[in-house]
Amino acid sequence: MNPKKNLFGINIDAVRMPEAIADLRSWIESDVPATGCRFVVTPNVDHAVLLQENLALRAAYEDAAMILPDGHPIIWASRLLRQPLPERVPGSELVPKLFDSFQASGELRVFLLGAAEGVAFRAAENMKQRWPRVQTVGIYSPPLGFEKDSAENKRILNLIAQAKPDVVVLGLGAPKQELWIHQHHRQMKAKAALCVGATIDFLAGEKKRAPVWMQRAGIEWLHRMCSEPRRLVKRYAKDAWIFPQLVLRQMSGWDRAGQRT
Ligand code: UDP
Repeated sequence: MNPKKNLFGINIDAVRMPEAIADLRSWIESDVPATGCRFVVTPNVDHAVLLQENLALRAAYEDAAMILPDGHPIIWASRLLRQPLPERVPGSELVPKLFDSFQASGELRVFLLGAAEGVAFRAAENMKQRWPRVQTVGIYSPPLGFEKDSAENKRILNLIAQAKPDVVVLGLGAPKQELWIHQHHRQMKAKAALCVGATIDFLAGEKKRAPVWMQRAGIEWLHRMCSEPRRLVKRYAKDAWIFPQLVLRQMSGWDRAGQRT
């Protein structure tokens, strides 16, 4: 069991990237527990804000087998609140690092679920070049509104069961991917599922991550906002208003529901 740090009501695993990869490898090498396919979530500021009001997302987080800090502000807040997390473990880096690890030793079967039509196919092509020992055994881009369609959900679970992946990479955006896996992980035939947002787009070269200097400076969000302003400006404005309040509240010992933390 990894050490945890409680930040804004989220029990975040206090691990570095190599420990997160070691955990994933151990899940992949063992049987699926009776509670279902283990899943990983990667909170950023937006998740922390959403979680305060979205009870379904909170429940999904409570059932996650590993919670890894995606954004710099989560790390900064953890230090400010004296619950220090050792480093960022973003989903978009976790996936390539996991593939590197299996390329170095072993073999991995991967199912890519999400991203726009055709994108996962291009991701699989790139993966074949870069990580020949990582086999993409299935891809699927679900249609709009799929999450509310029980026949479609059953179809997705069947596709995954037939493909027999070790890992499902879920790129459906937040909070959809977390809610979906929480609802279906008991029926999912895979050793691990990773809720990692735009990672399939990054693997495909469809979207570019921010330049390294921006990542290091903690302003990757600015790069994302400039590349998708219509979708992200409103979200980031709300997050910039609420997140500092969450930090201040925890600092003064009270959470948003008025409970002592
Ligand atoms: N996406 C999807 N189906 C949906 C909604 C989103 O496949 O119903 C994909 C979208 O194509 C993109 C990813 O989810 O590949 C969005 O990830 P991102 O991390 O940008 O979303 P966020 O979590 O920031 O909303």
